[in-house]
Amino acid sequence: MPSIDGLQDFFAQQTPRMTALADSIWSLAELRYAETASARLHIDALAQSGFRITRDVAGIPTAFMAEWGGEGPVLAFLGEYDALSGLNQQSGALVCTPSTDSPGLAGHGCGHHLLGTSAHFAAIALQQHLQTSGHQARVRFYGCPAEEGGSGKTFMARAGVFDDVDVALTWHPASFTGVFSQSTLANIQAKFIFRGKASHAAHSPHLGRSALDAVELMNVGVNYLREHMPSDARVHYAITDSGGLSPNVVQARAEVLYLIRAARNHEAAELYERVKNVARGAALMTDCQVEVVFDKACSNLLQNSTLNQVMYAQMQALGRLEVDARQQQLASDFQATLDSNDVEQVSRPLASVLRGKVPAVFEGLAPYDPQASDIMFGSTDVADVSWVTPTVQAWVACYAFGTPMHSWQMVSQGQSGLAHAGMVRAAKVLAATAISLLEQPERIAEAKAELLERRAGQPYVCPIPADVPLPFTRT
Ligand SMILES: [Zn+2]
Repeated sequence: MPSIDGLQDFFAQQTPRMTALADSIWSLAELRYAETASARLHIDALAQSGFRITRDVAGIPTAFMAEWGGEGPVLAFLGEYDALSGLNQQSGALVCTPSTDSPGLAGHGCGHHLLGTSAHFAAIALQQHLQTSGHQARVRFYGCPAEEGGSGKTFMARAGVFDDVDVALTWHPASFTGVFSQSTLANIQAKFIFRGKASHAAHSPHLGRSALDAVELMNVGVNYLREHMPSDARVHYAITDSGGLSPNVVQARAEVLYLIRAARNHEAAELYERVKNVARGAALMTDCQVEVVFDKACSNLLQNSTLNQVMYAQMQALGRLEVDARQQQLASDFQATLDSNDVEQVSRPLASVLRGKVPAVFEGLAPYDPQASDIMFGSTDVADVSWVTPTVQAWVACYAFGTPMHSWQMVSQGQSGLAHAGMVRAAKVLAATAISLLEQPERIAEAKAELLERRAGQPYVCPIPADVPLPFTRT
């Protein structure tokens, strides 16, 4: 029996209000560190539910903490609400149709409108449980901005805001349901600004020093580095300033942004040093100067199998997530718009439960193997929380099976019945896991011991150095 059995009426009662909250945040579609209205919607609702609000957490205007309760362990739900640039899309449209009501041209292509709302829903459900059960705990909801490209939680972890948390719980919307048992990659992002000397490219090329040449040589150098780096590391770049549009002017300034990823923090840091050396070499070759500006970073995710097992048991007890024929049909229509490779990529690790059939909606549960140690080739700032306090995450089906993240199909499905059902299911998974931990406090102690073991005696060192400023300007 799931540990939220006594809360079924509460969930039913609150679902319309929480669904409306998720829909509003979907429509706002605010970008990293500018999620002012989305954060305010959460803050107002949590304050109304009796939570104490701390604003401006870590000096970030769109980060906040909401807390309820006095004694007992601190159980924290992590919520996000940032959207993605360029992904604006009409709700429910089966073709890529930019919306007219998204002035920021952004869209919820990663489902963070659902993510934050479920975490909020779980926090008020746990509050309800504490009011009726006699269990003692402090419930927290952390409003975490800028997961997409902003490392919001890493800056929050650097400021120590998770230091007194006993367990952190969160989830991510997906096209299947299971424990988020993969590790993720650490990353470091930095700008390389090259400065040379402008000159007439035909009349006096010998007097010019090309910053664009330096960028190109740096990229060539890094491409040679790829053969000699760990096979699970990744290096991406974007030329963010090519030095102007005139080929007849030797480019005096050019800039390239690098994103470096590796399986562990120290590997990312080592690779970053090697990339910096390549940049220095490019500057030397071209007689330019290079300035390196550290932008942001995040850690690799530390799994906690103690917490994963508690969550998995609750997911099993909650049973299948069943949706009606209309939602099945809609999901099937969306699935028809997907690339078969996207569906195949999600299907492969689930082969043992799918048994050759590709469902429109994944209603079951991915098996959880505590011994497996898979890597998901992406990064998340939840990882930094996982170094500070034992952290557990779920994947919950909110989209047609196979829907890739950051796609227009994900934006389009963000207000569907399936998205809403997944949002409610995720809230139940999070609340049930928290209550189950209160019923077995020894599991919290075990989870903490496991974290210490996984850190192997190392303290958490924030991968963003203390002197790196917050990546936005205060208005
Ligand atoms: Zn996401």
